[in-house]
Amino acid sequence: MSDNEVIIGLEVHIQLTNLKTKLFCSCNSDYRGKEPNTLICPICLGFPGSLPVLNKKAVEFAIRLALALDCDINKQFFFFRKNYFYPDLPKNFQITQYNKAGGKALADGGSITIKLDSKPKTIHLNRIHLEEDPARLVHQGSIASSPYALVDYNRSGITLIEIVSEPELSSPEEAREYLNQLKSIIQYTGIADLDLEGSCRVDANISLKGHARTEVKNITSFKEVERALKWEIQRHKNMLKRDKELIQETRHWDDVRRVTISLRTKEFEKDYRYFPEEDLVPVELDQSFIEKVKEKLPEMPNERKKRFQEQYNLPEFNAEILVIDKNIADFFEKTVKTNEKFDSEDFNQICNWIMGDISRWLNENNKSINQTQLTPEILSELIILINEGKITGKIAKTFVDDMMKGESPKKIMKKTGKERISDKETIRKIVREVIEKNPEIVKDYRENPKALQALVGKCMAKTKGQADPKITRDIMLKELAEK
Ligand SMILES: [Zn+2]
Repeated sequence: MSDNEVIIGLEVHIQLTNLKTKLFCSCNSDYRGKEPNTLICPICLGFPGSLPVLNKKAVEFAIRLALALDCDINKQFFFFRKNYFYPDLPKNFQITQYNKAGGKALADGGSITIKLDSKPKTIHLNRIHLEEDPARLVHQGSIASSPYALVDYNRSGITLIEIVSEPELSSPEEAREYLNQLKSIIQYTGIADLDLEGSCRVDANISLKGHARTEVKNITSFKEVERALKWEIQRHKNMLKRDKELIQETRHWDDVRRVTISLRTKEFEKDYRYFPEEDLVPVELDQSFIEKVKEKLPEMPNERKKRFQEQYNLPEFNAEILVIDKNIADFFEKTVKTNEKFDSEDFNQICNWIMGDISRWLNENNKSINQTQLTPEILSELIILINEGKITGKIAKTFVDDMMKGESPKKIMKKTGKERISDKETIRKIVREVIEKNPEIVKDYRENPKALQALVGKCMAKTKGQADPKITRDIMLKELAEK
């Protein structure tokens, strides 16, 4: 089966959640948690005689993304109607863009660079375009077994941007990395918060080279994509193993049962009878508008990575990981700025804490950094306590859980009594006790100096790791020499 080369192309739909209104009407687009069917008007309900008006800000956001992805922006484009009948679509057509029949997408080309095993690979984009979101269908449990469907038109007409990749991804892992990079770029552009439920949906085209491809529709989170791809690829391989023919079809990813289910076969582009949307005038962008958007484009992850390397002296690998999540990178910079005495050694220490124990905690608790009570001041205080020798790194690690709940390290230190013991008299007392109680090891030490470590270890155990290891060692050497 090794000659079964995997070919994957992704169509990613992103809601521009930072827009205040919908794509073609002035209804509030902040529909999450709202009473169903309250943020609606004749336009987004598709009433006869209602006329759509294009949201200028939506075009600006789309251009921002096009610039960030290095696409070629088409200065003239118009919208199309994509016809199909479904309860989530009251007009019986979706207003979208089409790059055939004289139509053009908002932007063509562009690329995203992914890195797996530190080898970079460029994934080219086919196009990005604007379209409206259909309404939301709510099922009871699984779509296949639900006895009914409820429709919430609050989502109808929300702005979507679709990012279509060329079929250049060759594994589910590459797809995951592609989505991570895309998510990062979108976060930096400030056009959407993809942590919001339902803010992204992915359609994946999958085939084994030389065989029919299937399209898995509506994968509702980036996390599910890798899973769905793995399952579908295995299904293709199994079919071929059993000499069964694969057919071109559309499948649905059931994220409860974690399988793909056949939805419909023989669906082709022509079935949608695309034709121009004549209720909307063609859009003409002038260069000065694009330039203005360009000027306001924030720092992108790649630029930030380079700046972090130079400004904070971080290794490339660390800088790269740190900048992927904008919130994490912001947190790092805020922590760095809490104390003007911090130097490049401290910057690296802060970076290591964020990439290590803090990220681990976030993963285990499935939270983003903004969903915790941890503040830059708290982390800064921890670094200072370690630098001043008041706590050991080992003990600092046990503070993380409380710090994530907003407790200050100084308070935790007092509460747990885990202050580092560096008082020489206290340590001398412990050292003498250990020497007295372990004559065998002391005897061993006379012939084998390596046994010193065992004695120091006994002192550390006695103080639950709080004794300063260096001071303990020095005093131990002195006491043994005098004995
Ligand atoms: Zn509306």
